Amino acid sequence: MSDEPTRPSEAMPQRERTAVLGHFCEHIGCGKDAGWGFARPKQASHWFCYEHRSEGEKFL
Ligand SMILES: [Zn+2]
Repeated sequence: MSDEPTRPSEAMPQRERTAVLGHFCEHIGCGKDAGWGFARPKQASHWFCYEHRSEGEKFL
């Protein structure tokens, strides 16, 4: 089997991407995929990653 992809890093992303959600951590200098959203009625939502999700609680 010598016809394997020569660059497996392109064929298989190193980490699952959640960019489909379109949200990234708002912590300065972080920018990771944000899985935690915080929002109050009639206000813009704020998004943070797992590491910084506690920062979002101040928006609630
Ligand atoms: Zn973060």
